[in-house]
Amino acid sequence: MSETIFDKLMSGEFPCDVIFEDDNIFAFRDINPQAKVHLLFIHKLRTTDMNDLSRQRPEQLAQIFAAIEKYTKENGLEEKGFRVVSNLGAYGRQTVFHTHFHVLGGEPLGSFGS
Ligand code: AMP
Repeated sequence: MSETIFDKLMSGEFPCDVIFEDDNIFAFRDINPQAKVHLLFIHKLRTTDMNDLSRQRPEQLAQIFAAIEKYTKENGLEEKGFRVVSNLGAYGRQTVFHTHFHVLGGEPLGSFGS
């Protein structure tokens, strides 16, 4: 598994807008937001995609979702609602191969699909 841009964001080599960090989780604003609020949550220990994570490190799922729960509750997103998306592979249009969860909200979202 090779490094991705997210490793450079975590190390500080490339800048990003960090919104949450603890021992396990790193979260930041997406550089190309698809909603008023568009955040990315990742585990610091890299897996490739959500299925790889589920197979190899299922405990990471709980840690990532605990961070999403904490952040969205403390920052007012939970009140009105939000969406979590994880793209996998070519059809899913995954571009960064370090498992990540998009958190979209801050405004009413459109329907999704193709
Ligand atoms: P995906 O297409 O699901 O793999 O999502 C990767 C996401 O990473 C995209 O939404 C990109 O806009 C975002 N992204 C790529 N580079 C950066 C960066 N330097 N800072 C913040 N977000 C980034």
